Amino acid sequence: MKKINFSAGPAILPASVLKQASAAVENLDGSGLSILEISHRSDAFDAVLLEAEQLVRELLNVGDDYGVLFLSGGASSQFFMTAMNLLNPEETAGYLDTGSWSAKAIKEAKHFGKVNVIASSKESNYNHIPREYTIPEGLKYVHLTSNNTIFGTQFKEWPETDLPLVADMSSDILSRRIPLEKFGIIYAGAQKNLGPAGATLVIVRKDLLGKVQRNLPSMLDYRVHIDGGSTFNTPPVYPIYVMMLTLRWIKEQGGLEGMEKLNERKAKLLYDEIDRNPKFRGTVADEQSRSLMNVTFVCTDEADTDAFLAAAEAAGCDGITGHRSVGGFRASIYNSMPYEGVETLVRVMREFE
Ligand code: PMP
Repeated sequence: MKKINFSAGPAILPASVLKQASAAVENLDGSGLSILEISHRSDAFDAVLLEAEQLVRELLNVGDDYGVLFLSGGASSQFFMTAMNLLNPEETAGYLDTGSWSAKAIKEAKHFGKVNVIASSKESNYNHIPREYTIPEGLKYVHLTSNNTIFGTQFKEWPETDLPLVADMSSDILSRRIPLEKFGIIYAGAQKNLGPAGATLVIVRKDLLGKVQRNLPSMLDYRVHIDGGSTFNTPPVYPIYVMMLTLRWIKEQGGLEGMEKLNERKAKLLYDEIDRNPKFRGTVADEQSRSLMNVTFVCTDEADTDAFLAAAEAAGCDGITGHRSVGGFRASIYNSMPYEGVETLVRVMREFE
């Protein structure tokens, strides 16, 4: 039985993408070569990179003032690369602390400059997105985690500031429309909304670069990757190829407007059931902070937990166990999760009631 993959990441991919990706392992577009064995400097891969970049630009409305990069190292490498490329030792960046991933970004940024934690929801185990805070003068940028994969919270409104936002969008990239002009850097590990693990998408405003005094190792300098068109070194060829297929798929679904509508419908279906069904309770404190990507909930009676997990698994729902720091359940319903997948989970919840 094909399972319904609710895992937080690596995560579900569209069935049509998996089919094309597996065919390309044998023979890429009739070339007689596998995608796994072609050169990263071949015409075939040039075309893949170009199309992937163009699709990112088209879907998010990214102009030439930004570089679009496909790197390795995961979002975790961007925690330090962003600060390393933007922040001088005597300068301060503002950070919004909304979860474990934000905390990790803060830790890494401190290696390169000063960090001012403008707001934090840590005291309440990150169960909401702080909304009451002021952004002090004189910061270099403001960093945020747009969607908190572990705690099931998501920014719905962006900070009101003219400072460039630096955003970790690993778990909600391309799931909704965003005002791109507010962002100085957007980064995202591929393995939730974009493709398999191994590639990291980085969108960076070029005029922010070249302003730090430190010497940057080539591999950690965004400008080197912009100049090299993401092929300064051997990039993760196969993950980028699958990302390109997923980007095509997103475009076919009506682009970000289409994704946003579908994601809103799926999340509403599940949250409505959590709110209605006396057997369950959501873990996010205020409704406005609820993530449309990672839906976290618990059984009202903790003793029901194992039985509900067994019922969900028997219906083919895989990967709904919550992160150990929150407990309970987490249903990740990224772009590629079909509406019918969420319907199945909701049916199990009703039957369980
Ligand atoms: N940020 C967020 C919001 C994440 O969800 C994750 C991974 N779960 C990371 C960063 C870390 O990404 P990676 O494993 O690609 O370094």
